[in-house]
Amino acid sequence: MDTIIKKYDETHRDPEVIEQAAAILQAGGLVAFPTETVYGLGGDALNPHASARIYAAKGRPSDNPLIVHIADMEALEVLTAGVPEKGKLLAQAFWPGPMTMIFNKSAAVPLETTGGLDTVAVRMPSHFTARELIRGSGVYIAAPSANLSGRPSPTCAEHCIQDLSGRVDMIIDGGRVQIGLESTIIDLTCEVPVILRPGYITREMIEAVIGEVELDRTLFMERPDPDLRPKAPGMKYRHYAPKGEMAIVEGSREAVAEKINSLTYAHEERGEKCAVISAEEDLSLYRARNVFNIGGGHDEEAVAANLYATLREMDDLGIEYIYSESFAGSGLRAAIMNRLIKAAGHRIIQA
Ligand code: AMP
Ligand code: MG
Repeated sequence: MDTIIKKYDETHRDPEVIEQAAAILQAGGLVAFPTETVYGLGGDALNPHASARIYAAKGRPSDNPLIVHIADMEALEVLTAGVPEKGKLLAQAFWPGPMTMIFNKSAAVPLETTGGLDTVAVRMPSHFTARELIRGSGVYIAAPSANLSGRPSPTCAEHCIQDLSGRVDMIIDGGRVQIGLESTIIDLTCEVPVILRPGYITREMIEAVIGEVELDRTLFMERPDPDLRPKAPGMKYRHYAPKGEMAIVEGSREAVAEKINSLTYAHEERGEKCAVISAEEDLSLYRARNVFNIGGGHDEEAVAANLYATLREMDDLGIEYIYSESFAGSGLRAAIMNRLIKAAGHRIIQA
């Protein structure tokens, strides 16, 4: 199929773009669109055929449920079997924004959209284009990230074009996203809510609103434990992965630099293509040919925003081995580190 590519953002507001995208969604077609977290691959959440098309276009396992994007609180009455008080408080505090909540689903939501689960993931995005599209189409939009399954999530329209051109009906180009990491997911169907995926809305921010929450124990394991299954089915897959073999190197600043330099020296001697992911202030410590500046080590927002584009750039350059500094810590660092560990297939080297 030919994929229509059109611009729509605050400075390009051609109503025909939204009308065209709305018609596609209403007919069960697929539209990739920007949100503040990453680009989403949208289809009508209440149409099981549209959900099936999303899985096919991404090559995504069909037990991996989709997040439903809404533009107003009334949508919760249609999609859920009730919203607990803590859910209402979180919605007030963080919606529209980069937080997804899991509720018990209503009968209106097909099992194709929820990967066979009785629960539904819902998010109200804040991005201008996403809101215009949801409102303009009148559709609750089921949307996973708009990448091929296993590839790093898309943070600009070019990434969607690389992965999905010819596989979806339309891609709306709204420029670079603001945040660059997928939403925080929190399960509100349990007595004590559980964070299933860390994101821009941190544990600390959530606990300030609703008190104690738990973290899914599988999130930060160095080695996946075969007896423990993450509660968000998607978290068990190798995600966010560059094509090269990646490892995170931990230790003091000097030890990390020494370790990475010796590893990259050996690769380059063998004629292998390797690269280093470095904080801005450490760039001069590395001697490899390819050293990528991921942003200031104390500027987590920049690191988050640059991460996926950097991993994709490695693929474009045909990098075979990647060594990254560690960004371990709390707050937004927890989300960055979770994605890095997954990109690295849980390989962590102690320097
Ligand atoms: P993506 O949209 O590609 O960022 O992936 C959506 C994530 O949300 C995946 O990790 C899913 O497993 C998770 N998710 C969606 N719906 C549910 C649900 N009902 N229960 C638990 N996790 C969910
Ligand atoms: Mg994804």
